[in-house]
Amino acid sequence: MTYATRFSATRRKPLAVPSRPATLARAMARLEREHVALLLALSELESSAVATAPESALRAALAPLLRGDLRRTQYALGRADAGLYGVCDGCGRSIAARRLELNPASTRCSACEAHARV
Ligand SMILES: [Zn+2]
Repeated sequence: MTYATRFSATRRKPLAVPSRPATLARAMARLEREHVALLLALSELESSAVATAPESALRAALAPLLRGDLRRTQYALGRADAGLYGVCDGCGRSIAARRLELNPASTRCSACEAHARV
């Protein structure tokens, strides 16, 4: 067998699909980073010196949004501490890894989330 035929005989491996535990670990690491970023943003927002009127209005609008995100992030971290990261809060089934990649603070599967919004 020549080198060329031996080389072509080795099949190309398909692109590796990350396993669910790897995807969950990545999503959880992102969740923790987002939690720290939210804490920093809120503390900066609340501690900075006297602002101009437009700045005050912006802060007043931004603070509740950040607090809402922080609450959701903390809730998801609490579920993770209980060993329930990636498990739907509504039905107990697994949350799709893709969903957690897109939003690491998700605590419901897409079906339960859609149901909750109605
Ligand atoms: Zn569900």
